[in-house]
Amino acid sequence: MAQVYYDKDADLSLLQGKTLGIIGYGSQGHAHALNLKDSGFNVVVGLYKGSASWPRAEQAGLRVATVDQVAREADIMMMLVPDTVQPGVYRESIQPHLKPGKTLMFAHGFNIHYKRIQPPPVIDVSMVAPKAPGHRMREIFTQGSGVPALLAVHQDTSGKAWQVGLAYARGIGATRAGVLRTTFKEETETDLFGEQAVLCGGVTSLIKAGFETLVEAGYQPESAYFEVLHELKLIVDLIYQGGLEYMRYSVSDTAEFGDYTRGPRIIDESVKRRMQEILKEIQDGTFAREWIAENDEGRPRFNALRQKDADHPVEKVGKELRAMMPFLEPPRRG
Ligand code: NAD
Ligand code: MG
Repeated sequence: MAQVYYDKDADLSLLQGKTLGIIGYGSQGHAHALNLKDSGFNVVVGLYKGSASWPRAEQAGLRVATVDQVAREADIMMMLVPDTVQPGVYRESIQPHLKPGKTLMFAHGFNIHYKRIQPPPVIDVSMVAPKAPGHRMREIFTQGSGVPALLAVHQDTSGKAWQVGLAYARGIGATRAGVLRTTFKEETETDLFGEQAVLCGGVTSLIKAGFETLVEAGYQPESAYFEVLHELKLIVDLIYQGGLEYMRYSVSDTAEFGDYTRGPRIIDESVKRRMQEILKEIQDGTFAREWIAENDEGRPRFNALRQKDADHPVEKVGKELRAMMPFLEPPRRG
């Protein structure tokens, strides 16, 4: 049975009197820094001079310094710059200051698991990986609840790495929802698989295929958009609240019968076989190598693919329809 921790399991006093360095102030960084500050801790944000995030963090009432300065000062550092940027930032500004007693933390296991960062054995290395986008995490925290997270330890030199990690998880609000004990390997591989096969890749491809099928058959793009994209959230909200059964309770019997009899014809055994191939590419490092090489080459494919999907008709019609629904939460960027 998996081990899940809650507020009562976490001792916040382990972080009292410590300096918490949050490296990066993007999606995750702003949420960690602000939640920890609201939990009463001494937080300093590490950025590079000239970063657009610098004034934003200061305006939010946070102290900001260069990554080098933060690495010198902080007892606990959380790495929240993009995964592809982490190895360089680590080598240049963090590694030189890693002395015994310090803790280096991650919110995703990629760089430790694929050995892009190999910290010295004298420090603790752990991970608190929230299972939510940063902006949602901050919003939910300010409403008094939290998002679940995964907790793992790569190096426990002090003997306190689990307890410190758990206290950190409580500081960002994650123990309000549940913190699952895992390993860097499990977090990295399941996170990559989830986002590729289901959450991001699977869902966007399903939406586009459904939209194209309807439009190519002569239906209005607007009605296709409402049907296969807009309504997806309403369905997912029901699943989130009460599982598949509750969603099926809420939709009509006609929808439920179509779900049972047609769904498995769309997502069939062949899809599962390809999911297994994708999982294999994650496990054997093929995906990691491809992504690292893509970055080394300046992201030519990544940028072309981003542009191609931005030009998809579902995005064009979506923009027009959303402009007529001002009650939708406007997207937040940066
Ligand atoms: P992001 O791209 O939103 O933010 C990156 C931040 O790093 C920005 O503030 C940027 O200014 C700063 N930065 C970039 N280069 C820098 C440098 N050289 N020196 C100092 N600062 C620099 O990143 P993110 O999506 O928040 O991801 C951070 C980590 O959190 C990653 O490990 C990611 O896998 C993990 N994670 C992200 C999410 C998410 O919701 N986005 C969820 C779970 C885990
Ligand atoms: Mg994820």
